[in-house]
Parts: sequence; C-alpha cells; structure tokens
Amino acid sequence: MSGAKRFIYDLGFDQVAAWISSLGEPSYRATQIWQGLYHHFYASPDQFTILSRQLRTRLADEFDFSHLTPAKTLASSDGETVKTLFTLEPHNSIEAVLMRYRERRTICISSQAGCAMGCVFCATGQMGFRRNLSSGEIVEQVMYYARTLASTGERLSNIVIMGMGEPFHNYDATLAAVDLLNDPQGFDFGARRITISTVGLVPAIRRFTAEKRQVNLAVSLHSVDDEQRSALLPVNRKYPLEALRTACLDYVETTHRRITFEWALIDGVNDGPLEAERLARFLKPFRKDHASMCHVNVIPLNPTGKYAGKATTKKKAYQFQAVLEEHGVPCTVRVRRGIDIQAGCGQLAAG
Ligand code: SAH
Ligand code: SF4
Repeated sequence: MSGAKRFIYDLGFDQVAAWISSLGEPSYRATQIWQGLYHHFYASPDQFTILSRQLRTRLADEFDFSHLTPAKTLASSDGETVKTLFTLEPHNSIEAVLMRYRERRTICISSQAGCAMGCVFCATGQMGFRRNLSSGEIVEQVMYYARTLASTGERLSNIVIMGMGEPFHNYDATLAAVDLLNDPQGFDFGARRITISTVGLVPAIRRFTAEKRQVNLAVSLHSVDDEQRSALLPVNRKYPLEALRTACLDYVETTHRRITFEWALIDGVNDGPLEAERLARFLKPFRKDHASMCHVNVIPLNPTGKYAGKATTKKKAYQFQAVLEEHGVPCTVRVRRGIDIQAGCGQLAAG
C-alpha cells in the first residue's frame, strides 16, 4: 500500500539514521542512503547497489521515492527555458521551470498547488488553493533538476521559490525543505543561492527575520498605494503597506541583508514616472550609510486568462528603472523569457 509509506524526501538525516538503527543495521548505512539521495540523485531503491539486496527491499517497502510524475515538458523557442508539469495526484499538478542564462542554471519551484492569496493578475491565484506541498515535495523538484543537469555535466546554481503558491503560507514545509537542501552532508546547497518570494505576509516575515537565515528575501510590492494594492493583492487589506514596510525594514536592520521588491509593470496602472517617484519615496528609509539596502525587480506583466491588464512597453519599463536609479534605488528590468511556453511569472497555472 503506497499510501501508508513515508516519502523519503520528507525525512531528515536523523530520521533515516533512526530507521537504520531500528533495523539493527550499522549507522554508516544511513550515510550511504543519504549520499545516494543527495550526492548521486538516485531516484529509486534499486539504484542503491551499495546496500545489500535485503536492505534495498526494506527501503522499497518502507518508503515512496517519488510523489511527482513529470507529465509534460515544454521548451521555449530558444531552448533556454524548460517548464515541467508534474502530476501530484490525479487532480493536482504543479509546475517548475529551469532557466539557463549564461553560466547560471536557475530553477523556479513551487511551494503549493494553487494559491489562496488571490492576486488578480496571477494565474496561480486565479485557480485558487489546492493544497500545501510537503517539504519532500519541494525537495523532489530540486532533485529532479539536479539529476537532469547532472546528466549533461551541469550544476544547479540558484533556486527561487517563486513558482506556484505562497511559500510563507506554507512556512514550515518551505523552510524545512531549505534546511534539507542546505545540509552539508547532503545536497549542500548554500542558503545564499536560494531566494524566497512572498506576497507580504507580515507575521511570517517577522518570523523569518528572527530566524536570521542566509536565504534571500523578495517581497512582491506592485503598488505603494493601499487602495490600489488591495485591489491587486487582496492580502494588502490584512497587511497594509505601512506594516509591510516596517517588517521589511526590521528585516534589513536585523539581518544586514538586502531585500528585493518585485513590481509587475501593468500598462497604465503602475508603470508611469509618477508611480516610480512614489516608489522611490516609499523606499527612502532603506537607504543606510549612502547605500541602498533594497533592490527593485521590475517585470512587464505577463498576460493571464482572467485579468484584462496588459504589459507595459519596454520603453516605459526602462523609464521606470531610470527614475528609480536617479533616486538611488537600484533596479533591474527582468528579461521576459519563456513567455512562449507560458512559463513567465504567474503563468504557472496547472490543471
Ligand atoms: N506567492 C509569491 C511567490 C510566487 S509569485 C509571491 O507572490 O511573491 C512570483 C512573482 O510573480 C510575484 O512577484 C508575483 O507578484 C509575480 N506575478 C504573478 N503574476 C504575474 C504576472 N501575470 N505577471 C508578472 N508577474 C506576476
Ligand atoms: Fe499567490 Fe504569489 Fe500568485 Fe499572489 S502572486 S496569487 S501570492 S502565487
């Protein structure tokens, strides 16, 4: 009965070690299993040929090795962006994206199937909430790509938790996955190469701050007008701009780490020079000792089915950037990639 099995990627090393010890096996067997999973990216028990046949059978009896079934893979026309649709169970799927850019290999992974936050321009928000992913289901997305890249001699360089779902609405599982990926005896992926993007759940930002993690934090801002932000991002009614800004400032002051703000440029809505001026004023407190402790990523809106807003023009995107930079706020215009396979931000609407 596969339903009764534990999912191998949900386990920490200590749990594997406890299982090995309960079988009366020597403790180094746990290390071998761990290395098989996180150094060799084995995907099934029979690949663990270093173990006895008997132990491999126990492994197969006790654990599921996969919750995600790749159901569809789409490559962008330039071949540099590949999106994979994974089936979780018959009515739920998630998507993850691999982006190759120069020497970088970045994956964008999901934290939930669907999302409860209801941001009006987001395809995931439009489909509603389905369920949380477990930490292992978040980790399995990473292992899938680690394995794929290893087969061509490539390595993963960055992970962004910016796919489907609100990671801070699934805080424990998301951070447990991060801890697992960090494990020096395991995948050993540095926290500084991981970014979590949140819609702005203030209590979770405060918790994250207190934990003083090395993980990068990005906050989806999109507007500095409470009325407009509430219309775009309903969660703003609960955590309005002033509370959000204070939490972000506390984060910067406590951790001495830069914070990223995301801004989807919507034609005629939030893409003009006046909005850029207002944003620069809003971000003024983030200047410390003549350096900006924040960074803005602007991205032209990607079209989605249930939102009428249009993308800004390239020209206006660069004007927006110029205004921010005049005010000393570093700003990057995110290149739109993967649009032809609906792999842009917010377009990860599966099933
Ligand atoms: N829930 C998290 C992370 C997933 S969304 C968050 O909201 O931050 C990742 C990013 O894509 C967010 O900045 C989100 O606002 C943005 N996004 C959503 N829909 C988009 C769209 N249609 N065009 C451009 N960006 C979009
Ligand atoms: Fe959820 Fe982020 Fe989409 Fe908002 S933008 S609905 S928080 S995934």
